[in-house]
Amino acid sequence: MAILRSLFRKRSKLADTNAFEIPAEVTEMTEKKDEATDTTTATAAKKNNSTEDFLDYWIQKAVEMRASDVHFERYRTYVKVRYRIDGRLQTIKKLPVHLHSGLVTRVKILAKLKIDEKRVPQDGRFSLVHGDKKFDVRVSILPGYLGECLVMRLLQSNSDLFSLQNLGARDKDVQKLEHLLSIQNGIIVVAGPTGSGKSTTLYSIVKKISSPECKVITVEDPVEYQLEGINQVSVNEAIGMTFATALRSMLRQAPNIILVGEIRDKETAEIAIRAALTGHLVLSTVHAKDTVNAITRLLDLGIPAYLVAATLRGVLSQRLIRKLCPNCAREGKFDLASLKEIAPEYKAMGNEHIREPVGCDQCLNTGYKGRQAVMEILPVNEKIQRIINQRCDEDKLRQQAQSEGMETLRQIALEHYTHGEIGYEALLTLFAEMS
Ligand SMILES: [Zn+2]
Repeated sequence: MAILRSLFRKRSKLADTNAFEIPAEVTEMTEKKDEATDTTTATAAKKNNSTEDFLDYWIQKAVEMRASDVHFERYRTYVKVRYRIDGRLQTIKKLPVHLHSGLVTRVKILAKLKIDEKRVPQDGRFSLVHGDKKFDVRVSILPGYLGECLVMRLLQSNSDLFSLQNLGARDKDVQKLEHLLSIQNGIIVVAGPTGSGKSTTLYSIVKKISSPECKVITVEDPVEYQLEGINQVSVNEAIGMTFATALRSMLRQAPNIILVGEIRDKETAEIAIRAALTGHLVLSTVHAKDTVNAITRLLDLGIPAYLVAATLRGVLSQRLIRKLCPNCAREGKFDLASLKEIAPEYKAMGNEHIREPVGCDQCLNTGYKGRQAVMEILPVNEKIQRIINQRCDEDKLRQQAQSEGMETLRQIALEHYTHGEIGYEALLTLFAEMS
């Protein structure tokens, strides 16, 4: 198998020239072994080895292509391999159907799942090392009509990843966030939809403010990354371990910092507020479209406005926007009139530098590569507290926050667009979501 491994290495260097092809030798080898009958132990062992290498190939490829998850989907005449890259699923290859069961079995063995069980969903995990990177692979197998659908989520388990500087936001936003974190009590919430990078931001915040002298407990649904020196608890609603019950018990453990995966009901919000009032720093997320909307959500849960005003230290809202591929993006034309139609607030700067996606080998012909974190930060000061207390509408709150220097998600995205870092389509997508 050494030859095969060196082949993988060679191919990884060539990945940019033809990312959609796999070496014919790999397919042939696996096909031959799959066709062989298991008459002897030796044959069976060989077959396993080749399936093992075949699976290794797809995982290594996924790591090299920065995929966050790998999907093997069984259809009538083929198995579709798809990778999620920068938040978007991309079809990578269609494989012959007969390779499917070997792949699923191999993953089940790695994840310690029941090989013979094909009627109910199964979840598991295993670890893998790729170069100097260690990954925690979360496996989900769903019985489909034609066969089992396999999804593997690749989570890099190196906690060095988590730093405010690595979030990909502008330097000035990172500084604002650091300033907000200098107050070590009260509640800080992160708002945004699924996939907006909220967990990564919370982990980075925890890593920034935790120290050997302070006790940090998290309750998550589920624990996504294991952090060194942090006590982490997973929610398990089936046995009554909800955010609220976990949070109540956590307080008896005398923590300094508490991370609650999400505030989604009144009970959790009340305990979080109580914890904040007694000197803890509580970090959490709220499902809301922006910072101001997150405050409304907390009030809508039934928490008295004076308590929200007294405990909330700041709100952060974020999005991850696809960046244009630096290798192929071409110059675009700045059209102030059409930009004004979607963003009447925009004032021409005179230094606009618009770019458009094209597509090349380096970006799988999509025109995009990597993601830009866009971060709106609302520190809650006395004036904002007063407005929250009066339960004023979102517009008044937003106006006040902006008058004190808060840049909105829209404004920051406009800046990235007019600096040629993101495309028009990405801007429109964000605006549509915010409206
Ligand atoms: Zn490109």
